[in-house]
Amino acid sequence: MNQQADMTELHWLFDMLQHIDVGLVVLNNRYEVELWNGFMENHSGVSSSNARTKSLFSIFPTINQDWLKQKLDNVLALRTPIYVSWEQRPYLFPFKSYRSITSLSEKMFQNVVIRPINNANGTVTHLCLVVYDVTDVATNKAALSSANRKLDQLSKIDGLTELNNRSSLDRAIKVTFDSFAKGNAGPHSLVMADIDFFKKVNDTYGHPIGDQVLQEVAKILSSGSRKGDFVGRFGGEEFCVLLPNTGINGAYQYCEKMRSEIEQAVIKTGKGEIKITISMGVCEIDESHKTTAQWLEAADSALYKAKEGGRNQTVKANG
Ligand code: GH3
Ligand code: MG
Ligand code: MG
Repeated sequence: MNQQADMTELHWLFDMLQHIDVGLVVLNNRYEVELWNGFMENHSGVSSSNARTKSLFSIFPTINQDWLKQKLDNVLALRTPIYVSWEQRPYLFPFKSYRSITSLSEKMFQNVVIRPINNANGTVTHLCLVVYDVTDVATNKAALSSANRKLDQLSKIDGLTELNNRSSLDRAIKVTFDSFAKGNAGPHSLVMADIDFFKKVNDTYGHPIGDQVLQEVAKILSSGSRKGDFVGRFGGEEFCVLLPNTGINGAYQYCEKMRSEIEQAVIKTGKGEIKITISMGVCEIDESHKTTAQWLEAADSALYKAKEGGRNQTVKANG
């Protein structure tokens, strides 16, 4: 009676191993397959009867033999399990992924445990590979880090103009300032720019058209900048451009080119064509600037002079 119960239990166990959603492979010490469950059959397309007695490496010729043999030999010799994570190696068996929620992966990501199997007499001549499908985990993680990268980007960008926002501008200015303080002579320049009579644009055409004007100015400032320049929205209708490795004359040239392009631009809006001008203050860093705030103030007071001088012009600090 007991024997009957044992047989039933064994049958159940075997049935579960056959249908469990985990890959099970038993290999002998010549790397030949002795057990191959339903998961392995379904995903490899190789039936258990075809796999049995074949070398694992003849079933999967693309597996890195040297690498896996060393792992298998270690498990047999040391009699301790080894864990291979998808993060080290996305997969051991080249199975197609059916679960992938995105097109991020075509292959099934796998965690694999290789464990020794003890014989009744205490020797170890076989080992078992347990294969977990972790495609969901891997693709979720990839989606999450891509979302995080996007969030990271968004937190640096001004929503209206898509220029760098104030906080990333502050960071960039500080990096340049610190490198100057540490002896990187530069030269480095900073531009403060402010649209002339912008209030009038808002008052005449309304805020949404004002926003469109800000976007157009942002586009012009960006298109005129070079690689390494840092164009940002300082706030409201004020812009700030950091020009590393640019002296006062080069910076002045950039400003005048931008000023003249903005002066000539005809901004087409739903309420007619708009023309505007911009004033700019530019300052090259020198030893008299003890903090980033002082450097900014110098550029800002040059901008103030440009306004006082009649607007639509560029003024150099200390010049
Ligand atoms: P000035 O030539 O002296 O610079 O005159 P101004 O009218 O441009 O200067 P002021 O600083 O007095 O006005 C700036 C205006 O910019 C006030 C504010 O309503 C407007 N403004 C600030 N941020 C935004 C924005 O995001 N969108 C719009 N449409 N307007 C903005
Ligand atoms: Mg202003
Ligand atoms: Mg203004």
